[in-house]
Amino acid sequence: RCVAASASSSPAVTAAATEVPGTMKAWAYDAYGDASVLKLDEAAVVPAIGEDQVLVRVVAAALNPVDAKRRAGKFQATDSPLPTVPGYDVAGVVVKVGGQVKGLREGDEVYGMISEKPLEGPKQSGSLAEYTAVEEKLLARKPKGIDFAQAAGLPLAILTANEGLEKAGMAAGKSVLVLGGAGGVGSLAIQLAKQVYGASKVAATASTKKIELLKSLGADVAIDYTKENFEDLLDKYDVVFDAVGQGDKAVKVVKEGGSVVVLTGAVTPPGFRFVVTSNGSTLEKLNPYLESGKVKPLVDPQGPFPFSKVVEAFSYLETGRATGKVVISPI
Ligand code: NDP
Repeated sequence: RCVAASASSSPAVTAAATEVPGTMKAWAYDAYGDASVLKLDEAAVVPAIGEDQVLVRVVAAALNPVDAKRRAGKFQATDSPLPTVPGYDVAGVVVKVGGQVKGLREGDEVYGMISEKPLEGPKQSGSLAEYTAVEEKLLARKPKGIDFAQAAGLPLAILTANEGLEKAGMAAGKSVLVLGGAGGVGSLAIQLAKQVYGASKVAATASTKKIELLKSLGADVAIDYTKENFEDLLDKYDVVFDAVGQGDKAVKVVKEGGSVVVLTGAVTPPGFRFVVTSNGSTLEKLNPYLESGKVKPLVDPQGPFPFSKVVEAFSYLETGRATGKVVISPI
């Protein structure tokens, strides 16, 4: 009946299929600090879109340590002005497209990391809101068979895992040690190393309760850091991927000529650090691995947290004990 009605109505009426309100619910802070600075704004302004952007109706978002560090004021020098709606990771539905947008249309289900450089002028209006504006080039189609909550947990973490492995020269036949294998980034670094890069051997560290998880993600060797120091074991690796901040120890277990990539903390040569760049086409390239189930999203079983529980979700993330991704859904 609806189809018949719209077919007979004027083109203008048909085109206005998606009503976008002027205001929305969003979590925001107007001063740096701990999780208590976050307030739910019931009438935040829905962001305007640029020519190269789309407006996404957010269905799910995910938290990353960078959201907490940014909120704490660690990146003030290069941050966007306050007030801030945090959140880099999004999965949702396109409801409006800018004039220069070529590939995306209203109704498309997408996911991505909304700021190209997370520390250099990140978006003031992030994904912990009902709507967020994103450049088309930062988004990818949501993989088939992956729900919005799972998809939201992927972008920042999987792009970091991929860029880190790539920059470290990971390739078929090489061995890798992932420090922090049970976290958002580490759980994907293990899987990408094995499934995408063809690692000959993947080792990873976590605490006792997460050792079986490391193996289920594809780790050949799971090191319980509460019982053994990885740097005291005899094994050496072509690549060490440090998602914990143990760069000083990481360099002790790399083979001569190998690479040590660190995400956080001090850098000891030959280790190097980088900051992830968002890119929708990299997500598109990884989509087949997600659609085939070779690479699986890992959503922390404490969640998904409903939109009303964002403060609790941040507090949980900031324990540093999350397993996979802390996801907010539904929004
Ligand atoms: P998570 O919050 O998901 O990491 C939590 C995990 O870390 C837990 O599962 C925990 O396991 C594990 N962990 C904590 N301490 C240790 C340890 N000593 N040894 C092994 N595992 C440990 O964080 P992310 O994976 O999202 O990010 C990791 C770090 O990388 C953060 O500091 C983040 O800011 C940074 N980062 C940097 C990026 C960049 O571009 N440079 C991009 C993305 C992240 P357990 O409970 O067993 O201890």
